Amino acid sequence: MSNGQDKLDAIVVGAGPAGSAAALVLARAGLSVGVLERGEYPGAKNLFGGVLYTTVLGELVPEFAASAPLERHVFRRRYVMLGGGEQLAFDFSSAAFDQPPHNHSHTVLRAKFDPWFASQAEAAGAMLLAATAVEELIVEAGRVVGVRTGREKGDLRADAVIVAEGCNSFLARKAGFRRDFQPHRLQLAVKEVIALDRGALEQRFNLSGDQGVSIEYFGGDAVAGMFGGAFIYTNRDSLSVGISCAAGEFPDRKMLPNEVLERFKAHPAVAPLLAGGETLEYSGHMIPEFGRETMPRIYGDGVMFAGDAAGLVNLSPFYHEGTNLAMASGRAAAQTVLELREAKKDFTADNLAIYDRKLRDSFVWRDVEKCRDIPEFGRRNPQFFNRYPYVFGQLAREFFTVDGRPKARVERDVFKRLRKEVGLMRFVRDLWKAFRAMR
Ligand code: FAD
Repeated sequence: MSNGQDKLDAIVVGAGPAGSAAALVLARAGLSVGVLERGEYPGAKNLFGGVLYTTVLGELVPEFAASAPLERHVFRRRYVMLGGGEQLAFDFSSAAFDQPPHNHSHTVLRAKFDPWFASQAEAAGAMLLAATAVEELIVEAGRVVGVRTGREKGDLRADAVIVAEGCNSFLARKAGFRRDFQPHRLQLAVKEVIALDRGALEQRFNLSGDQGVSIEYFGGDAVAGMFGGAFIYTNRDSLSVGISCAAGEFPDRKMLPNEVLERFKAHPAVAPLLAGGETLEYSGHMIPEFGRETMPRIYGDGVMFAGDAAGLVNLSPFYHEGTNLAMASGRAAAQTVLELREAKKDFTADNLAIYDRKLRDSFVWRDVEKCRDIPEFGRRNPQFFNRYPYVFGQLAREFFTVDGRPKARVERDVFKRLRKEVGLMRFVRDLWKAFRAMR
């Protein structure tokens, strides 16, 4: 990287949503900022489910809809429990979501979106160096002063370093900002992008134009009763299909993530949706699930961590929202740099504490806090994943069975079975616990 300076104003590690948002804000303010990305190009190694929530993107790039590679707008959301042969679903669509701004929810493919977003930062003046992995943070006298890359003469120095390296957070661990991974604090996900003829896709999912649907499957047969779920999101002419479960569950069940995905794809309720599709991409990734006691430190002398590297993910099973929080935290880190420069203050940990305050005052921290107990709840209440989807599927089947019994008798039988198999009080207690975990 040659910008005629020995030292940059700021270095950003990672050109995902957090890193590119940070670089964009810094570059627009006229700072010299270098973005180091280990992939051949931004997005080359990135994976997510598929719904980009665009509230922060809309603030950063108000005209994004005209040029961003959006796939479809999500106007319909479907939540499904798969039992043995049963499918119990909640389906919601809205005419309002069918109109701009489309509930700020669009499917995207990261291999297309990340390069576009990084190009916005480049256009503002950021210097992107792809195919460059940062191997460690350079620390002098306890303060981060730059990064060491794998390249020859690969040390780069800056006044401030923003680390947006995603969930692996290799640099954060190496520099002692977070502990090593614990399997019960991670979700492991695998995903395929499956090409499908556009006409067939729209017919199967009942879509027209740019309409899209997100389908989330909870526990049950979707993921062999494990603590986790599966998803299908519609793109323009492909589907994003994947599963995501607590990492510790795979060895416990002696199953590999790809086996769980194959089972999901072969389920009778799922296979017809995918029939005739051709797998274009297969990849795996992790989602951080930090509990209160394992939350990483997100700033130190000369450095801030943003996005997944800081554990900033909304773990609600209804949203799976990370990209929006990543952009918001990248922006907050960049604004912190700008404010300290303006006030002619140094980038000491004490001064960088305003980054933490900015996050706490925003939706980012509130959403992270709100959902922090969900993973623990899921682990302590496996019945939501390995029992209820089956029991409620059977109860629904019994309720809708036509076999000559009077309807009043059918309803009595269903109620009796509900009491026997679940226990009314127990179920109410479980629901209350679930409500509290998500409140
Ligand atoms: P990342 O997107 O992981 O980007 C990190 C970048 O840093 C990458 O480009 C990587 O190559 C680069 N990098 C890493 N290490 C180095 C290094 N040492 N040197 C240089 N570069 C490096 N969120 C949503 O909003 N909606 C969803 O539907 C959704 N579904 C998801 C489904 C799955 C299966 C998964 C795994 C995640 C999902 N998320 C979703 C979460 C979302 O993907 C993340 O929260 C988000 O990508 C975090 O952005 P980030 O910029 O912090 O990290």
